[in-house]
Amino acid sequence: MRFCSTRGGPGVSFEEAICRGYAEDGGLYVPEELPSVSLGLAAWRRLSFGELALELLRLFVGEELSASELQEVVHGSYRDFSDPRIVPVVPLKKENAALLVAELFHGPTFCFKDLGQQLLVRLLARFAQRSKSRRTFLVSTTGDTGPAAMRAVADAASPYLQIIVFYPKGQISELQRRQMTTVSGPNARVVTFEGGGDDMDLPLKRISADQDFAKKHGICGINSYNLGRPLAQLPHFFWAYFRALDLLEASEGTELDFVIPAGALGNTAAALIARQMGLPIRRLITGVNQNDITHRTVTTGEFHRSESMVKTLSDAINIQVPYNMERIFYYLTGQSALVKAWMAEMDASGRLTLPSDWLQKMQQIFLSARIDDELMCSTMRRCLEDFGYLPCPHSAVALGASWATESDAARVVFATASPCKFQESVTTALGAEAWQRFQESPSFPSSARMLLEAKETAPDVFEAEATLCESQRKWEMNLRKMLGE
Ligand SMILES: *Cc1c(COP(=O)(O)O)cnc(C)c1O
Repeated sequence: MRFCSTRGGPGVSFEEAICRGYAEDGGLYVPEELPSVSLGLAAWRRLSFGELALELLRLFVGEELSASELQEVVHGSYRDFSDPRIVPVVPLKKENAALLVAELFHGPTFCFKDLGQQLLVRLLARFAQRSKSRRTFLVSTTGDTGPAAMRAVADAASPYLQIIVFYPKGQISELQRRQMTTVSGPNARVVTFEGGGDDMDLPLKRISADQDFAKKHGICGINSYNLGRPLAQLPHFFWAYFRALDLLEASEGTELDFVIPAGALGNTAAALIARQMGLPIRRLITGVNQNDITHRTVTTGEFHRSESMVKTLSDAINIQVPYNMERIFYYLTGQSALVKAWMAEMDASGRLTLPSDWLQKMQQIFLSARIDDELMCSTMRRCLEDFGYLPCPHSAVALGASWATESDAARVVFATASPCKFQESVTTALGAEAWQRFQESPSFPSSARMLLEAKETAPDVFEAEATLCESQRKWEMNLRKMLGE
């Protein structure tokens, strides 16, 4: 199979698409054609999670990896999940009402990023080993991406891979910090910088744009603009669909709604790709917090960048411009020339208003709800009181979005992280005692408890200079030195 940019242009191999991250024209890679799976649906219902992932990935990787190589990649990726089902789908019950929750957080860092990063990093490790070329991942994180990427690199244990993760000092939770500082080593380093959430983005962008330097060090982006992430996130949508059918005693072909907490829209783009491939999803319902660009786009057609990022209690979905909206536009219109024109407008002015016929088309597929911190907290309380179930703040945003929207299909709500990572938000919503009870209960993961006692290696520190501008120059120099000029 070949892969092209959402903005058109020539096709590349699977290896090139995932090694490059962004396409050369600034677009995002997509498969040139999507395979149709409607005939495979009945047979796939009986597969294990790993078998299903293998079938799906094979469609895209083709002959670029042998059957045994791909099997090893898939097997390794799910090895450290704490639940043998990988993604359990649990029914929450109250009287006659039932709510289906697909738990995407049983991976090693307790969040859904493990599902994408483990596969992507292992695929990259395979290709790097074959071409004997080094890959360097530079990841700036405000919480979940860094730990999942770092852990995936540590687990892949390839001499060809290295990663440096950057986090703003004092602005991530203790558990998140420990998830990185307890697995760091010579090929997986952690840097804390004295600045705000996205202040490291500019130095990283400058380094990636320095083509000679980037090429020399094999610098490669593994955020969800990298096609490997959405593709690695396909299996859980198929799997959740089948498990929901089992629970509902329904037959293949029954349409379901999927409710997803949306940040950079990598997970939502994966669900849309699954739908385009023929998985019977009726509606995709996105839940967002006060950083609501996706909600504004779906409800009014205004894809307008907001002035600034708002700090929230569900900060893994804080976003100003979600890069995967471009893939959504691509699948909505099927026209790369149109996507190219739209993105040029967005890049130039930070604003794009969808023509009304396209907005209508979008609204045939998408619903959305804006769940601010107050609503998120009340959703968390309602969920605990009614169902005895404690969701993480992002999963609570999705649950809130499900309760705030209506349609007539049965629903699966996607829970993206374990509440164990979010002490501050859980405490704000439910009080310190509730957190204490949770922490002492059997549902608090024992590996999270162990992490709180494990030995940390101190991160490197990038100090603040007199102005942000000076800091960013200095950090860029520091980083170039770390990598070796
Ligand atoms: C990253 C993340 C999301 C958002 O996923 P996207 O693919 O970026 O939309 C939701 N919840 C949690 C817990 C996350 O870490």
